[in-house]
Amino acid sequence: MSGFLVADAIEVHDERFLDCVDADALLVTVFTGCRFAEGPVHLPAERALLWSDVPGNRVLRLDEETSQVTVAEHPADFPNGQTRDAAGRIVRCEHGTRRVVRIERDGSRTVLADRVDGKRLNSPNDVVVAKDGGVWFTDPTYGIDGHEEGYPAISEIGENRLYRIDPATLACEVRADGFRQPNGLAFSPDGGILYVVDSGYTHDQASPRHVRRFTVEGTRLHGGEVLAECDSGVFDGVRVDDDGRLWLAAGDGVRCHLPDGTHLGTIVVPEEVGNLEFGGPTGSTLYICATTTLRRMPLRVRGAVSSEWTAA
Ligand code: MG
Repeated sequence: MSGFLVADAIEVHDERFLDCVDADALLVTVFTGCRFAEGPVHLPAERALLWSDVPGNRVLRLDEETSQVTVAEHPADFPNGQTRDAAGRIVRCEHGTRRVVRIERDGSRTVLADRVDGKRLNSPNDVVVAKDGGVWFTDPTYGIDGHEEGYPAISEIGENRLYRIDPATLACEVRADGFRQPNGLAFSPDGGILYVVDSGYTHDQASPRHVRRFTVEGTRLHGGEVLAECDSGVFDGVRVDDDGRLWLAAGDGVRCHLPDGTHLGTIVVPEEVGNLEFGGPTGSTLYICATTTLRRMPLRVRGAVSSEWTAA
């Protein structure tokens, strides 16, 4: 590592990282006791954060005002990635049922996708909603590989791909393939770029542990070049801030990269990070799902969707 450490938790590779983080900021443990924390989604209207404990088969809820954590759902069909749509509804990936669902206001679930061409999905991992309402998700095999994160099965599709669900028709179509294990994904603030992680290295050390950059044209993707490689564990979840920087879950913490791929620095976390989310009253609190714990750190930047927050 060529970086230097600031206040134990902040490793600086490029001075510009100090525009994003406060050298005095503390990395605080909010909750511990998960088996593998994933899928955080902030709910601004409720001042709450939901996240998944995938092997624990439950969804946890943090009340941001009281700091109280409760079990929101258990069992929960081995939940993984979550996001919210423009109406504030939760969209969730479920390993156990091998589908993507939307949770309606009354708590009922609308299945957005569970099959493609008549074949069951593998185990949807992470999901994001585009400005046009399209639901984009990745479908690796983590949830069917063993008993830990779902129910073992052979892939019916035989490929691990990226899909888009049309918001009007719920048609689910392949938008990119050629991945080993597609994982976290996030749009740039203007929606013109889609970043997609491949964490195939977890299965085979000759396979990728990188993030790719696709150009979005309408509902189609072009490009797909590798933007950044991970050299500690794998990249997993990814979020983008207001200025377009990428914040990536990695084996040694949360890594911040510029849109050109430059690694600015790392928030060093003593556990493998699975995913992350912006939250707090102004969107500048970073929540970090790190194996057994939920942690948080205040940042000097805001999440890219923070314009929604004032509306919520
Ligand atoms: Mg993931």
